Amino acid sequence: MSENPVALVTGAATGIGAACARRLSAEGFRVAVHYRSSAEKAQKLVSELPGSFGLQADLTDESAIDGLIKEIKAEAGRVDVLVNNAGYNVNAPMLTMNLAQYDSVASVARGTWYLSKMVLRRFMFRAGTGRIVNISSVVGHTGNPGQVPYTMVKAGLDAFTKSLSQELVGKDILVNSVAPGFIDTDMTEVLPDEIKETIVSRVPQGRMGTADEVADVVAFLSTRASYINGTVIHVNGGMYGG
Ligand code: NAP
Repeated sequence: MSENPVALVTGAATGIGAACARRLSAEGFRVAVHYRSSAEKAQKLVSELPGSFGLQADLTDESAIDGLIKEIKAEAGRVDVLVNNAGYNVNAPMLTMNLAQYDSVASVARGTWYLSKMVLRRFMFRAGTGRIVNISSVVGHTGNPGQVPYTMVKAGLDAFTKSLSQELVGKDILVNSVAPGFIDTDMTEVLPDEIKETIVSRVPQGRMGTADEVADVVAFLSTRASYINGTVIHVNGGMYGG
């Protein structure tokens, strides 16, 4: 790794993304704190992490992604680690969900694909090295009622990990997924208590996970792992073993 490595974390202002940003900063990275709408939280995080900087972009908009790539090039000139953490979910049964809701979930995955392509092209291919960590989900493996598009996207993200790692044969660019289970963040905060209790009852460890427990694995894959590639690491307290 270079002396001044840079990690780009998407959706870094909140939850799992913020925990990844803090953890990677503690590992010596300058962190590019990407956000969409959580500007205040992003600014606060940037003020806490030495050398970090904020980048606003809606990942459903490819021109915004082009702008983000330009900004990071001007500010840091490199991306050593990309954590594709941003994600979006709409909870609704299949028959009541409309196409706009489907698109709001799926278009973040499209943006993840495009951002990864641009980071590879502009930074990692030139450097000949890099790490990409995709935050997928246990529900991409188990399925979950009321989350058909979300589970499609998350299963697809793990397939993206496998296919891309195979395309990058012979390069020191490793691509892996971290699939969290039920983690205590804004995304799960909104669930009714009875649903939370039902989910926790299916977790052998008997509790929700923390964002830091996910970030620890992301940091390991971003820094120390050298022979883990194209795989999915589950962080779910035992609710699903892969
Ligand atoms: P969160 O706090 O709601 O984080 C989601 C992040 O995604 C936000 O920071 C948000 O940015 C960003 N985002 C959403 N739509 C975006 C868009 N169109 N363009 C750019 N950024 C966008 O929830 P979280 O739990 O930390 O989720 C982080 C990741 O973990 C997600 O991919 C989620 O699917 C995954 N995950 C979470 C759990 C869980 O139990 N919490 C379980 C499995 C997987 P802004 O706030 O700036 O808009």
